[in-house]
Amino acid sequence: MPSVIDLHSHSTISDGLLSPSDLVRRAADQGVKVLALTDHDDVAGLDEARATAAEAGIALVNGVEISVTWNKRGVHVVGLRIDPSYGPLRDGLAAVRASRGERAARIAAELEKAGIAGSLEGAYAHAANPNLISRSHFARFLVEKGIVKDTRTVFKKYLVKGKPGYVEHCWADFAEAIGWIRASGGIAVLAHPGRYDLGRTNLISLIADFKEAGGEAIEVVTGSHTAEQFIQFANYAREFDLLASTGSDFHGVGESYMDLGRLPALPSICKPVWHDWPEMSAEHVGWKSAAPSAARVPDLADNAALIRPTD
Ligand code: AMP
Ligand code: MN
Ligand code: MN
Ligand code: MN
Repeated sequence: MPSVIDLHSHSTISDGLLSPSDLVRRAADQGVKVLALTDHDDVAGLDEARATAAEAGIALVNGVEISVTWNKRGVHVVGLRIDPSYGPLRDGLAAVRASRGERAARIAAELEKAGIAGSLEGAYAHAANPNLISRSHFARFLVEKGIVKDTRTVFKKYLVKGKPGYVEHCWADFAEAIGWIRASGGIAVLAHPGRYDLGRTNLISLIADFKEAGGEAIEVVTGSHTAEQFIQFANYAREFDLLASTGSDFHGVGESYMDLGRLPALPSICKPVWHDWPEMSAEHVGWKSAAPSAARVPDLADNAALIRPTD
């Protein structure tokens, strides 16, 4: 029994490995009925994704994942049910994207200092959308060159704080990112809060600042959370009166912990971010046939085949 809702995924418009069409087809094949495409800082894949979703008979939620700097750390805000044609959102995303080129040059200069030449050209060779150059593309270059065995290991040895190829960067702030999302009619979701490596005090301060800036939901079930973190963030969602979201954060086979359509259920104490969405009608998600009571809900073991061992 697949999970029918997946509200976080990436295509080649950002750092995913599948085109928007291929991503949507894979989601449909995996049993997903409602998919959000949430490329980093760009909405250029949504038209293609929507057209394919219509052909495949699934619902496509307009999404985006905006890069934010909070207290000198990079954090992500997912926007769901945004209007991708809304001017201030488009302008804001264009400004965030523009800064990526300059940042990539600095990353390459740092790698050069560590003895790794040609990474700027090498990273762009992996970026289908040159306006959206990301660390994932540098990671793929480092793997291609045989410098690191896989992309997971890259993010332990390179491109992260204290390691070669790391640079600080000033992205949007919470007020900007959440403002663009909400003004376009969307809902702002704090992405994978368990991933930021924050202690309890900082985590509470992050969630409080997010909420204060207008954030309305938090990811509880996501590919980068452990089963314990599903519970932890379900509790934070309740404590902070935030809606709960769920999404695989799928980038491609071999680069993701969780596949499309293989998400464990949200803990029952959560109020889902989609509680009042028309996309969740029986027509789309087939609640009757997908009734959770009798059916086995996917768990982490369903994703075992996807996890590429790193050690
Ligand atoms: P950027 O937006 O350029 O900073 O790149 C961030 C992207 O790198 C994330 O969206 C992930 O796709 C990828 N990434 C970051 N950390 C890791 C990690 N530990 N393992 C795998 N991918 C990662
Ligand atoms: Mn990514
Ligand atoms: Mn993210
Ligand atoms: Mn993501």
